[in-house]
Amino acid sequence: MITLDDFDTFPDFPVEGILFYDISPILASPERFREACIQLMPPAGAQVDVVAGVDARGFIFAPVVAQTLGVGMTMVRKKGKMPGVDLLESSASIEYGSTDLTVSAGPIEGRHVLVIDDVLATGGTARAVAEMLTRGGAASVRFSFLMELAGLDGRAALEGFEVTSAVVV
Ligand code: 5GP
Repeated sequence: MITLDDFDTFPDFPVEGILFYDISPILASPERFREACIQLMPPAGAQVDVVAGVDARGFIFAPVVAQTLGVGMTMVRKKGKMPGVDLLESSASIEYGSTDLTVSAGPIEGRHVLVIDDVLATGGTARAVAEMLTRGGAASVRFSFLMELAGLDGRAALEGFEVTSAVVV
């Protein structure tokens, strides 16, 4: 199991008033990293055709989960980082600011997508991803997070989508 003890905490990062949960201790331990990737796997029976990793920490875990499932991985990137013309775009308001996201449309249309990120906070990022993937014709969208900050009620922003979180604080 991944627990709260697996994270470092940094008060007032990146801005005052935010308690930041850092995944570095998980990455520092092959055993904890392996366990984190297991916890991010979808429930048995869930259909997944492609895993979407969210910029930036979702990129660390998504390829491992995709490889384990035997499917491909695609990147949800901050705007301006993704080449190509066939891009979906969405704007997210997040816990400490706002961000514009992009994803290639090709791997999404008609596919069952598992979205992976480290932390669900306000749900602004995940909501924007869900909206973008739905608009791009995804057959279904589900989410796996390592940590969910229940006090910020990100789950409410993802109403109608399947969400699993390894640790809820
Ligand atoms: P939200 O959009 O849900 O407010 O914020 C989630 C996004 O911000 C995720 O992409 C996540 O990586 C990042 N994030 C927000 N709070 C934290 C935190 O405490 N720790 C980490 N590692 N990421 C965070």
